[in-house]
Amino acid sequence: MSELAGYAVRAENTRGRAKREPAPAGRSEFQRDRDRIIHSTAFRRLEYKTQVFVNHEGDLFRTRLTHSLEVAQIARSVARNLRLNEDLVEAISLAHDVGHTPFGHAGQDALHACMKPHGGFEHNLQSLRVVDLLEQRYAAFDGLNLCFETREGILKHCSIKNARLLGDVGARFVRRRRPSLEAQLANLADEIAYNNHDVDDGLRSGLLTVDQLLGVAIFREHMELVLHEHPHIDRRRLVHETVRRMISTLVVDLTRQSVGNIRKRAPRTIEDVRAAPPMISFSTSMQTQQQELKRFLRVNLYQHHKVARMTNKARRIVAELFNAFFDEPRLMPPQYHVATGGDVARTVADYIAGMTDRYAMREYRRLFAVDDI
Ligand code: MG
Repeated sequence: MSELAGYAVRAENTRGRAKREPAPAGRSEFQRDRDRIIHSTAFRRLEYKTQVFVNHEGDLFRTRLTHSLEVAQIARSVARNLRLNEDLVEAISLAHDVGHTPFGHAGQDALHACMKPHGGFEHNLQSLRVVDLLEQRYAAFDGLNLCFETREGILKHCSIKNARLLGDVGARFVRRRRPSLEAQLANLADEIAYNNHDVDDGLRSGLLTVDQLLGVAIFREHMELVLHEHPHIDRRRLVHETVRRMISTLVVDLTRQSVGNIRKRAPRTIEDVRAAPPMISFSTSMQTQQQELKRFLRVNLYQHHKVARMTNKARRIVAELFNAFFDEPRLMPPQYHVATGGDVARTVADYIAGMTDRYAMREYRRLFAVDDI
């Protein structure tokens, strides 16, 4: 790794872990965080959780696991160019979605609706809860006992009300300060990854067509270029080559604009970064193009009637599971049984949020199918 910039987070200056541990041998603090995330149960479950499509719809669609790997890849390559801490950016990227419910946003919305009278449900906050508390693998502590900077990056947004309850990682929302550049970068790498793979998955599924996408400037521009250079290219390669170039353009734009922002603000330390406005950003024109693509995906993919049918069903599964467990907590496995006076709703939410798509469907069948009681 090239030498870190002054404004990068340095492992040796970490604010540390909630529970003190001896320094790791042969790897940095953030490498240890990344390794703990990779070995966690929640990370493995990402393989069977979806973003847009339900997991069993097709073998080639992105899951939250492959999505997280793509985010880490994009974030690391920008981090290297900006001389940021690649290990930290990788740890944040790999962990950013571990709190997601089954069935993507439909599952999250349903769980939030059920949890409204009990403090609500935010997937971001849940990711933090997973790494702080819910993973139970280590002898000396609950959770993964990650460094402050990794946890800060995982909590990319949160309401002021919740922030006040979160102590150290919540403070920046209350004080209106920024997280590290590594955290800012992981956040935008997430955006680059999902916008582009949703185009790819949308086309593969047949829910989107190339003709429709030609109405989106960034797609049209790159597809025309590919066709100009390779007039006889087959369709599959044409789509891949177009998406590849879109990602590359976004990465180059993000890097260039961020270098400019950093030069202008000239932060010397991480404290300067926290006090300044966000410095990792796209150029204004690229932001406009990204917005156009996002709008297109919302209307044509996320609200597509076939996706709506799937998400409607998913919403019902999550809501009915919640009600059944909330009314009768002993239907949950013993490790989820709550002591008298405990928070039943939160425990049910933790159980459901941890489920994979197929586990949730199986639980639903086990609870409600009358033919195999
Ligand atoms: Mg994500």
